[in-house]
Amino acid sequence: MTESTPISDAELLAWLDEDLPPERMSDIEQQLRDGTDLQRRVSGLISERDHGAVTVGEVWRRHRLSCPTRHELGSYLLQALEPGHSDYVRFHLETIGCRKCLASFEDLQQSQAATPETIERRQRIFASSVNRLKRDGS
Ligand SMILES: [Zn+2]
Repeated sequence: MTESTPISDAELLAWLDEDLPPERMSDIEQQLRDGTDLQRRVSGLISERDHGAVTVGEVWRRHRLSCPTRHELGSYLLQALEPGHSDYVRFHLETIGCRKCLASFEDLQQSQAATPETIERRQRIFASSVNRLKRDGS
């Protein structure tokens, strides 16, 4: 734990503007990955700045903050990530609204929804409503 130099709002704003030395940029990105407090501060700063000029998504793309892997998204979906880690993924999906990750996430949700159990359950429900319709119709 040598890298945890406190980060000021001014520095976060400079970070958003990519106006910091590369080491400090990645240091802040690392701390952002690890800390929900910092994520909240950045969200606040972004929304203060975000008066139509720059969207959160653009900020995200500009800074290319690392996207979670598909595997991470899958674990997030299954709630199998550690709390700090899943906060980061939630931040990425919900606050940043990364389209690429939202698309993979939906994809994962759909493929998860189509497990043999759910298909079987759907077929059962379908069959029973067909039977009901037959009964009602006669
Ligand atoms: Zn992403």
